[in-house]
Amino acid sequence: MLPIIEALLVLQDRDRRLIRLKAELEAVAPQRQLLQLKAAKTQAAFEEVRKRNVHIESERKRLELEVVTMQQRINKLRTEQLGTRSNDQYKAYQHQIETTQAEISRLDDQQIELMEQAEAVGRDVAEAAKVAAGQKAETDRQLVDLAAREANLRKDHELVSAERAALAAKADPAGLWRYERILKMKGDNALVGVHRVVCGGCHVKLPMQTFLHAKAQLELTACTNCGRLLYFTPDMDV
Ligand SMILES: [Zn+2]
Repeated sequence: MLPIIEALLVLQDRDRRLIRLKAELEAVAPQRQLLQLKAAKTQAAFEEVRKRNVHIESERKRLELEVVTMQQRINKLRTEQLGTRSNDQYKAYQHQIETTQAEISRLDDQQIELMEQAEAVGRDVAEAAKVAAGQKAETDRQLVDLAAREANLRKDHELVSAERAALAAKADPAGLWRYERILKMKGDNALVGVHRVVCGGCHVKLPMQTFLHAKAQLELTACTNCGRLLYFTPDMDV
């Protein structure tokens, strides 16, 4: 095998690893966002149900105060009722007292209903708090793992980059230049094998002359269709 092909094959292996590592590194930020979003969602669900609970409780307190006010009104009406001499006025007071009592009884019913609701929502709050705490713990753990993974990927990327630079420094500049130009254009394999007289890059059958040229390995040969550099090893099918 031509020394430049051998060198480029090793180099290409490092380039492929670098491409993979870069893609994995780029996937870290979206993964992190997804994890944070999941925790934020369960936290929001908890806040929502807690807010409902607070609302029920304040509503109940409002009714309670209203009942107190009405009781005071009844007491006042009773005092005034005792002071009147007019029969009509007495009846009018009585009517107001009864109306207010009915209103109090209506509010009492509402309070009972709210207390039942509060009990159910209270259970929901406890459950949502448990779910949110569990999700947060899980997310925190996953974020720590992800950070460790990211650090490893960065370290690998640095190592492979250094290896790649050392290999590139030793490679024949003309061959390296051709390889890198194709890599830039194609974005993937620049140096491909030949199987059954077909280019391993574009899978188009090679002209016989090109094939024989690649097989002879006297100099770098490019696919006439896609321009990728070709290599041939004896174990490949002719
Ligand atoms: Zn090709």
